[in-house]
Amino acid sequence: MNEPNLFEMVKEHICTCSSDLDLTPDIETSLKLPVRELHVSVPVRMDNGRLNVFPGFRVHYNDALGPTKGGVRFHPDETIDTIRGLASLMTWKCAIHNLPLGGAKGGVVCNPKEMSKGELERLSRSYIQAIHQFIGPDKDVLAPDVYTNQQIMAWMMDEYSRIAGKTTFGVITGKPVSLGGSEGRDDATARGGWYVVSEASKDFGVPLKDASVVIQGFGNVGGNAALIGSQEYGVRVIAVSDSQGGILNRDGLSIGDVMRYKETTGSLKGFPGSAEITNAELLELETDILIPAALENVITTNNAGRIRAKMIAEFANGPMTKDAERILFQHQIPVIPDFLCNAGGVVVSYYEMVQNFNIDHWDAKEIHRRLETKMVSCYHDVRKLANDHNVTIRQAAYTIAVSRVVKAMKLRGWV
Ligand code: NAD
Repeated sequence: MNEPNLFEMVKEHICTCSSDLDLTPDIETSLKLPVRELHVSVPVRMDNGRLNVFPGFRVHYNDALGPTKGGVRFHPDETIDTIRGLASLMTWKCAIHNLPLGGAKGGVVCNPKEMSKGELERLSRSYIQAIHQFIGPDKDVLAPDVYTNQQIMAWMMDEYSRIAGKTTFGVITGKPVSLGGSEGRDDATARGGWYVVSEASKDFGVPLKDASVVIQGFGNVGGNAALIGSQEYGVRVIAVSDSQGGILNRDGLSIGDVMRYKETTGSLKGFPGSAEITNAELLELETDILIPAALENVITTNNAGRIRAKMIAEFANGPMTKDAERILFQHQIPVIPDFLCNAGGVVVSYYEMVQNFNIDHWDAKEIHRRLETKMVSCYHDVRKLANDHNVTIRQAAYTIAVSRVVKAMKLRGWV
């Protein structure tokens, strides 16, 4: 069976809540289209002297609530439809968390794993040269996502500043702390996710102390989720994976050691005391909590029936198809949806913007306090609506988020 791409999937979710909200067909149509998008060619002089031209995109999905905000991916399989889907998700993510921001996303089709540091710097600068008129601190603000990091954000901010003729911290978030970045941004997505999972675990009767946890993806989100979960919530992370495959130890992996091992060897494979498993096997392990934290569309109708987790928390964007979720709902496996659960990154990015605008710097304690308050109150608002209307948490989250965006569009006279 062909699974829909992320953009189609998000549109289906909008359709579902459109009937709940009684939206007119015109409004529904406008919610299913990006307001604007830019397709660019990104030329880069490679170390061998040749010029490679990489396709790049930046999509502003909806800016009714404020300037748009969203990450940038460097990935060989990137497509405009994935970027549109991710930009749409960013719109609902900002809206559900009551941020005065719209949604955007960008990407370059390239394989950063095969590029030198110099090539990555030239790519980052060239991408900004290509899109600089489309972005800005009060227009569209970039951030890290898959295979981009703080160093790449620093180069991008520097390139934009050179073009603008002044240091412009506010155009990018996820920068290094010594360069206008915020405390707590590096692990914000994972930490925000745990604030939500901690509340959900009480609702669904899955106590976190010694709970078994399986995590797909061991990058910024997955790696930090494993570390924070084991160190601060006392969970037992029994399996983790990256793009090469996974490792399993039912007694629990020592995550600090796994991180050092991956840093030294470049791989998870061969970690002492663990068994090797594939990414497909990892998703089907019997566990209390399953956390997809890599890429989209990994739980589909092909494997949903074999998932044996008591609860799924989507730290990745779009890891599950709509039909797969229907199967999980029948099997009574609760799913905490991506744009509710993984918003810690954009929430702290918003705090970074506020600090940049005010030439201010908050400490980590302040960031964590604000983040926890926001994530927990949002979860309870959504959960209440889901309970009151007997719908999934995702459907309740879409209903709240879409209604806020539509209200802004109506007030602005757009629809
Ligand atoms: P990252 O580049 O730091 O890490 C990605 C991880 O996924 C790596 O460990 C990589 O090996 C693994 N991976 C890649 N392809 C895989 C595959 N086919 N199977 C299994 N693992 C694979 O990226 P990240 O920032 O951690 O992003 C992970 C997810 O979280 C993405 O869906 C991203 O959109 C989402 N997200 C990230 C942030 C953020 O702040 N970075 C915020 C919200 C959501």
